[in-house]
Amino acid sequence: MTTPTTPAPASRPQVRPALEGAAPGTKLELTFTARRRGKPPRHLADLEVDERKGVAKELGLPAFRADQLSRHYFSHLTNDPTAMTDLPADAREQLAGTLLPSLITRVRDLEADGGATIKSVWRLFDGAVVESVLMRYPGRTTLCVSSQAGCGMACPFCATGQQGLTRNLSTAEIVEQVRLAAATARDGGLAGGPTRLSNVVFMGMGEPLANPRAVFGAVRRMVDPAPAGLGLSARNITVSTVGLVPAIDKLTNLGIPVTLALSLHAPDDELRDELIPINSRWKVGEALDAAHRYYKATGRRVSIEYALIKDMNDHAWRGRLLAEELNKRGHGWAHVNPIPLNPTPGSIWTASERDVEAAFVAELRAGGITTTVRDTRGSDIDGACGQLAAQVIEQPTGAKDEG
Ligand code: SF4
Repeated sequence: MTTPTTPAPASRPQVRPALEGAAPGTKLELTFTARRRGKPPRHLADLEVDERKGVAKELGLPAFRADQLSRHYFSHLTNDPTAMTDLPADAREQLAGTLLPSLITRVRDLEADGGATIKSVWRLFDGAVVESVLMRYPGRTTLCVSSQAGCGMACPFCATGQQGLTRNLSTAEIVEQVRLAAATARDGGLAGGPTRLSNVVFMGMGEPLANPRAVFGAVRRMVDPAPAGLGLSARNITVSTVGLVPAIDKLTNLGIPVTLALSLHAPDDELRDELIPINSRWKVGEALDAAHRYYKATGRRVSIEYALIKDMNDHAWRGRLLAEELNKRGHGWAHVNPIPLNPTPGSIWTASERDVEAAFVAELRAGGITTTVRDTRGSDIDGACGQLAAQVIEQPTGAKDEG
């Protein structure tokens, strides 16, 4: 267990994590087993290039037809056979019918930030509902994707956690969120006109590293150049985790230098055990060690996510302790992103006072830690990325889109 080096001054209270609206002491259960096991139909984006060619051959078509189909899907961002005019009509129908089943249906879009942010609600083949959020910033356009329907990680601040885990998404269900968002960006759906989707963050519903097979497959499809995949830059893809240590090591071994974001939210085990229940399995030190191994293997600086919650985790001594824990493992390997919450009167999950936030950030910077207070885009549309602040923001109302 990590021992705080400096005790909390008596003048600052310590609010403890709790499930609001539930009987005191109620806890969500950590779960790794999905309630639903239904598998979505096989899709082009689930398959490697050779497997796609194998399907074309099974249909009696030349292998290059699979590449043509892949190019339509990953480069032209379409799954509409009538747009694939370089394919003979019957091959088009056969291939699209076999490899491009409909996986996700748009339930609704909600706009925020003057149209620069669009949150989309999707229904999957079995009725499960997930969200993605497309955000335009100066110089980049980012999509936040979901990797699971629901989540089994039981974080007490999180509306998705309160639903429990419905099921893992397949590789293609994740890639479809990306393809559709890339098409929206290209077609001028965001304020500011047509643009290119450049970044993807796995910070929507679910714990990505609890569904590593599908998530790693989706990462491959995103970075592989056409016709194999979408051709995004690995450094522009962020995989976040609450700290599933063995799966962080698997990501390290994958050898694709994506950005790893560790949702830490507390540097001491005493608080983190309650705030991020998976901490009962892998402690702060173990999660940081795994993140550091990731840095050593890939050279990619790790992002440490830290939602600042009033009187719960925002004490200056915690900023100091976090800097110490990071510096213990080396310098320059991690970057801290404190995330300010929206003020939520009456909730324990509410914004830190401005001066408290500033003092926390000052401790980190004094420790030599690069620190960027993050933008919480889309929070005015009832939640942006499911993982962090937005979940905290929407938790008090319990509001969740059910289509
Ligand atoms: S915060 Fe993330 S890991 Fe925790 S329950 Fe919510 S979606 Fe799952």
